[in-house]
Amino acid sequence: MRTRPGICGRKARFASEESALEAAAKAPFPLRPYRCGLCRNWHLTSRTKGMKLPRFEIERRRVTKDSTQAQPFVSSEVETR
Ligand SMILES: [Zn+2]
Repeated sequence: MRTRPGICGRKARFASEESALEAAAKAPFPLRPYRCGLCRNWHLTSRTKGMKLPRFEIERRRVTKDSTQAQPFVSSEVETR
């Protein structure tokens, strides 16, 4: 991803992907960490369309789906508990 200098300066920076993910997990909307080519730190972007989702976001969506529509895979998982 190309990062423009203005965006880099304005955004929160994280020294590692881990801390960026941590912050993303706390946000009420989907955020995705990405490595900035300018400052070599991590920023968060809300553009998750067509991107690989972080694990916690996949989990979150799976749980949401779970409660709205019963999927064969998910429901069988629940039943074994
Ligand atoms: Zn940056």
